[in-house]
Amino acid sequence: MKRILVAGGGIAGLSAAVFLSQKNNSVEIFEASSMPGGRARSFYDNHFGREIDNGQHLLMGCYRETLRFFQMIGANEGYYKQEQMSIPFVSERGYIQHLKSRTSLYPLNLLHAILDFGQLTLTERFRVGKLIASLWFLDLSKKKDIPVLKWLRNNNSGENELETLWKPLVVSTMNTPIESASFVIFANVLKEIFLKGSEGSKPVITRKGLSSLYVTSAIQYLKERSGKINFSEAVKGVVFQGDKITLIKTTKRELTPFDEVVFAIPPHALKRIEGIPERLPGGSLDFNYSTIITVFLKITNNPLKEELYSLVKSGIHWVFNHGDMLSAVISCADDWASLDSRKIIRRTKNEISKYLGVKEEEFTNAKVIKEKRATILSGVERGPKISLLNIAENAYIIGDWTIPNLPATIETGVLSARRLSNILL
Ligand SMILES: Cc1cc2nc3c(=O)[nH]c(=O)nc-3n(C[C@H](O)[C@H](O)[C@H](O)COP(=O)(O)OP(=O)(O)OC[C@H]3O[C@@H](n4cnc5c(N)ncnc54)[C@H](O)[C@@H]3O)c2cc1C
Repeated sequence: MKRILVAGGGIAGLSAAVFLSQKNNSVEIFEASSMPGGRARSFYDNHFGREIDNGQHLLMGCYRETLRFFQMIGANEGYYKQEQMSIPFVSERGYIQHLKSRTSLYPLNLLHAILDFGQLTLTERFRVGKLIASLWFLDLSKKKDIPVLKWLRNNNSGENELETLWKPLVVSTMNTPIESASFVIFANVLKEIFLKGSEGSKPVITRKGLSSLYVTSAIQYLKERSGKINFSEAVKGVVFQGDKITLIKTTKRELTPFDEVVFAIPPHALKRIEGIPERLPGGSLDFNYSTIITVFLKITNNPLKEELYSLVKSGIHWVFNHGDMLSAVISCADDWASLDSRKIIRRTKNEISKYLGVKEEEFTNAKVIKEKRATILSGVERGPKISLLNIAENAYIIGDWTIPNLPATIETGVLSARRLSNILL
């Protein structure tokens, strides 16, 4: 039995605590804020009379570790996976074409979906299919990285494919502009989604707020195994003796002794912990971040039939339909972040009305959430390539930014926790 301390109660810290609480280990989380879940959480909003997320999230069937984690903590009821991938792409004035597979037979499902995708011409569909298939045999470890846009241009992709398919795919999976996004990371994303079986490309849609979906169950799971979570208590410093951390200073107390320490916090926060930065290779935690904005719109007489829509060639990338509420997502939204909320709401309503035909007077309430450091950028110049890092004999760094060959997502947060538990258990 070990005493394990975890700094950070986002999905990486929570899943690490759950995994490590096996074998009678005693696990204790220290979370700086007053609520758990980090960037993937929800809260009750009085004006909407319901729970809303701090930002709309989309999960995919290729989030294998996340779905395993949900299963482990009994959070299965809070989401569902589409039986067959079916994503409506809507162009201005409401022309809808689905990216839809009609079979589970892999890889026919993918071939079929692309060849049937009416937003592209036949030539464009063949080119897209060929490009994705070419990744099958590509050894990415030997590939020099270039921006995704350059890769697409080198392969003769035209404007319509870029604007209709590639840009939305890059922006929504990597939260990074196509002009600077890393081809190697994007190719890994495409492999995960399309080239590892038929499940990967199926959207996983949440039925509840994220906190009700997994945070509450994770904490309950921990408590049943004598785990503990402390809120409003940040880790602010560490003391080393030789190659071991022997003392942790939080905003409330000093902690010792313990066997292992896990830091599950983003790089900008890690940088501020006294004693940590000088232990990192190169001493640097300098990443660039990218904004995601979610606009929540309460709606009466909702005419929409589908659960999500991709808006083609619009500043709004996705619209999710929650029945009594729509949530519109703008990724890579640094340009929008300086606009005031009223302007963002006006633009969003306008786009939704143009694309989906919802009358603006149907919206009765609106709320904008701007997350300026939603994720690190996954550019060719991504910043230090830090992976699950052993910074002392008894201390590890995990989190969504610690899997260098994939973008920062919920899945990389949980994957980093899984890799840590494989080492420690
Ligand atoms: C608006 C938005 C939309 C997104 N959309 C998607 C999506 O559609 N799909 C997807 O997969 N991902 C999406 N993401 C990204 C996803 O939310 C993150 O990748 C994931 O939640 C990161 O989890 P984490 O545990 O690594 O970090 P965090 O969630 O940042 O957790 C870190 C925790 O550590 C705490 N902390 C910080 N400093 C300290 C300290 N010194 N001591 C103790 N605690 C500390 C923080 O308060 C926080 O709770 C989105 C993010 C945002 C913001």
